[in-house]
Amino acid sequence: MSRRMNAAMYHGVGDVRYEQTDVPEIGPGEILVKVGNALTCGTDVKTYKRGHPILLRHTPALFGHEYAGTVEIVGEGVDRFNAGDRVVATNSAPCGTCFFCKRGSFNLCPELKESFVNGAFAEYVRVPKHVVKWNTHRIPDSLPFREAALTEPLACVVHGIEEANIQLGETVAIIGAGPIGQMMIMLAKKSGASIVIVSDLAELRRDMAARAGADVVINPAKEDAVERVRAETGGYGADVVIEAVGLPATWEQAVDMTRDAGMTVLFGGAASGTTFE
Ligand SMILES: [Zn+2]
Ligand SMILES: [Zn+2]
Repeated sequence: MSRRMNAAMYHGVGDVRYEQTDVPEIGPGEILVKVGNALTCGTDVKTYKRGHPILLRHTPALFGHEYAGTVEIVGEGVDRFNAGDRVVATNSAPCGTCFFCKRGSFNLCPELKESFVNGAFAEYVRVPKHVVKWNTHRIPDSLPFREAALTEPLACVVHGIEEANIQLGETVAIIGAGPIGQMMIMLAKKSGASIVIVSDLAELRRDMAARAGADVVINPAKEDAVERVRAETGGYGADVVIEAVGLPATWEQAVDMTRDAGMTVLFGGAASGTTFE
C-alpha cells in the first residue's frame, strides 16, 4: 500500500481542502522532497479565485509551487543529490535539448508545461526530471527554508530587471509594492538606478518600499502618480517603468509615466481577455 500524506488539494475555484492523499511516486531522474516551507504566490491566489488553464488541468489536484525542503528519496539515475540534502527547486524547467532550447528560447520549450510542479502545499512534493536537472539547488544550512523558497519569484524578478536593461544613473518608476515590487526596488537599485519612484495604495507597502530603498514614494489615492513621476523627472517621464500590479489601468499608467524611447515592463499579469489602449 502506498504511503499517505496530508495536502491542501485544489478541487475547483474557491475550493481547497486539507485532506489525505497518496505520497507521490517518483520515476527515473526525479526526486521526492519533504517540504520544509511553501509560500503562497500571487498565481496561487489567482488560481484559487478564477482557476488556471495550464497549471491545473484536472481536479482534484495537488497545489502550490514555491517551496524548499529536504530530499527524501532520489530516483534512478539522479547523482547530483542525496537523501538528506537541503534544496530549493523552481516550479518548471525546459528540456535543454529541443529546437527552441538550443536557440535560447527556453520559454517556448514544449516540455516546459509538462514539467510544472504543483503540490508544494503538502508534506512531500515530487520534483520532475527537468527541474531536478536544471532548476534544483542545494542550499546552505544557514539559509532558512522560508527564505530559500523565495527563489522562484526572485528569479522572475531578476528576469524582469534584465529585460528592463537599467543603465547607471537612470530613474526607475515601479507601480505596485507587493512582494514582487519590493524585490524590484532592491534589484533596480543594485542595477544602478539613481532614483527609484514607487507608487502603491497601501501604507504598509509604501513604508516597506522606503525601507527597501525607494527614493520617492507615491500614494496614488492622494496624488496623480503620472504627474508626480513627470515632476520628478523634469517633465520627461522615467527612463524605465515597471508595472507590478497586473491591471489595465496601471498598465496604461506605466506607459504614460515612461519617457519617449524609454522602457516599459508590464510585469504584472492581468486576467485573460483583458484589453488596454
Ligand atoms: Zn510563483
Ligand atoms: Zn526544450
